[in-house]
Amino acid sequence: MNGDTVRHSGDLGGLLVPGMPATVTVRLPERLTVADTHATWMLVNLLLRLKGVVDLVILDATDAIIDARVSPHVSRGTLFSSAIAALASNLSAVPLEVRRGARSRGINLHIGPGPAVTDGWRVVGRDWQATVSTAAIGATSDGGTLPFGPYAAACLAAGEIFRAVRLPPDRYTPISTVSVDTWDYGLAVEHQRPQSFDGVELCLGLAGVGAVGVAALQTLWACDGLTGSAVIADNDMEGIEKTNLNRYVLFDERHIGLSKATTASTLYGAGQVVVEPIDGPYDLAHLAGRCPAVLLSAVDTNEARHDLQRGIVPGVAFGASTEGLRAELVVTGPPDDGPCLACHNKLLLGIPDEVSRATVRSMSASELNKLTASSGISAQGLKLWAQTGRCGTVNPEMIGHVLRENEAEPAWSVGFVSVYAGVMLAAQAIRHGLDDEFALESTSTQFQFRFPQAEGNGIPQIYRRDAECGVCSNEMHRMVWAKHRSDARAQ
Ligand SMILES: [Zn+2]
Repeated sequence: MNGDTVRHSGDLGGLLVPGMPATVTVRLPERLTVADTHATWMLVNLLLRLKGVVDLVILDATDAIIDARVSPHVSRGTLFSSAIAALASNLSAVPLEVRRGARSRGINLHIGPGPAVTDGWRVVGRDWQATVSTAAIGATSDGGTLPFGPYAAACLAAGEIFRAVRLPPDRYTPISTVSVDTWDYGLAVEHQRPQSFDGVELCLGLAGVGAVGVAALQTLWACDGLTGSAVIADNDMEGIEKTNLNRYVLFDERHIGLSKATTASTLYGAGQVVVEPIDGPYDLAHLAGRCPAVLLSAVDTNEARHDLQRGIVPGVAFGASTEGLRAELVVTGPPDDGPCLACHNKLLLGIPDEVSRATVRSMSASELNKLTASSGISAQGLKLWAQTGRCGTVNPEMIGHVLRENEAEPAWSVGFVSVYAGVMLAAQAIRHGLDDEFALESTSTQFQFRFPQAEGNGIPQIYRRDAECGVCSNEMHRMVWAKHRSDARAQ
């Protein structure tokens, strides 16, 4: 796989087909509310990164002037159409046309409430609520200023375009209606949902400024009135790379080569939550005495999750992650009962011998040559070991290590799944910041974009600890964790 390949181009273990890229027309309502602006910004942001799935995005031109926290890249008073055009040019991925009175072409995504549609879907985000539907959607309110519902609606709609293009036709059932409530995912409908955050003060740590972390930051940034502090850390020394841009919604080509945490913090700017970057791991040494009450884990390896749990022992931690087309949010703790960040996330310390041997047996001559070169073991020795299991000159542990390092395919990932995970993470941080009584219940919330309409999809489930977890099974660790937890709750 070369550096130009897009991370969402693989077939995800035979699940996806290449498909014919779609032209997508984003149609705007006559009066663009703040909620519609959030939804459109995120939707077009995601579509413009879906190279190979979308071949052209057409946006209705609008005279609307931005008067909201839409993106750190655009200031208030900017013409919305120009801001979107600048986004497309800074990404230089999928082309964009901004047209007045754009005629229906390809798949149409109609932003905001209105009558039923037959040429695509209606995309509506209102407060915490997201709906994508072919049916009519009534206007109950102007939708407020929150980004949660609008961003989730954008993810559902971009996900639907992806499904339409990349799922084999016999496995694709188009969405008729999907609704998500990003406050509590439908668990307590009578619950009051806050509409603004004036005076809400957060004290956060964010480990991992990758696709999910960046989406969480964009979401928090777009919330008017939030204050407090956040320490954000990322230890990827390569910084922002071109292959990140299919899903890092805050970054574009101008940021390639820069460090993730510092760049995100610079973009976040001043005036709301104060963001301090660490271009290194989120650990005690780098935190240097700062101790945020809540940890948002957006790291993408199990090793990193184990390191966070072992090293920081966070009293309150929420973890967001993606796996293929699934986004997940985990609420950790309490000790003895709920999961820690390491629970259910096994470390692949080595590839089991049988797997390594089968891999070597299936290698072509040139692959075997490469392995010979990187391991220093003769092809003959490797073959003998692969067939008989006899070690001789072969060190199986080292082979496992070399095989792991040489894994050809970097993890498959796509923007709308990462953003959805980041939105869930930001929403959870705010629920906790508002002292919501259910915010600390140990749950796992998984949204599977492959089956958006499946019953129970995206509904939180009670999540217990892993009885065999090597980290939180340790008595000393459990004691420290319990203390940190009560300290964090007292703050
Ligand atoms: Zn554990």
